[in-house]
Amino acid sequence: MNTTSLNSEIYIGLGSNLESPRQQVQDAIKELRAHPAIFNLHASSLYQSKPLGPSAGPSIGPSEQPDYINAVVQIATSLAPQQLLFELQQIENLHQRKREIRWGPRTLDLDILLWHQQIINTPTLNIPHLEVCNRDFVLIPLYELNRNLHIPTYGPIETLVRTLEPHSLKKLIP
Ligand code: ATP
Ligand code: CA
Ligand code: CA
Repeated sequence: MNTTSLNSEIYIGLGSNLESPRQQVQDAIKELRAHPAIFNLHASSLYQSKPLGPSAGPSIGPSEQPDYINAVVQIATSLAPQQLLFELQQIENLHQRKREIRWGPRTLDLDILLWHQQIINTPTLNIPHLEVCNRDFVLIPLYELNRNLHIPTYGPIETLVRTLEPHSLKKLIP
């Protein structure tokens, strides 16, 4: 049995809504799997979600953008959190990620969601990711990967999923 993967509670959230989003997310998962410092990757299913914006409640992002494809992966890594963030940004750049409008459409977004049970708050990195508990497209794939997960400061994932607002997240058939 592979103990590294069982013990590792490092999770990355993926999202894309531009330029063949499904392919972008699938390619990013392959790139993470092939990274020399990333091991034992387990991927959730792919999900389709509505963009953050008026359709999702309060107006917090630009409207009129395509649906997102999302997934979450669990990994083990020899990198430190800041180093992993740097590597994720390199992969985003490979996918021609542009940083124009906050929450605007993007080819690829890679967020570090959790780092074991650690709480990290620096000017460039917040773990758990600050929005982890407010987003169905993060919580549901996380729950698919690990039903026993405990999210530091927020509690058991099972409770968080149970108390989610009704949502339009769609699990995609492989
Ligand atoms: P959101 O944070 O609401 O998901 P976003 O993903 O669109 O928004 P980005 O423009 O991709 O935001 O990232 C802005 C900055 O967030 C990055 O430069 C990075 O330093 C910082 N950041 C803080 N915590 C994290 C984290 N856990 N994972 C990824 N980036 C993070
Ligand atoms: Ca994000
Ligand atoms: Ca991001």
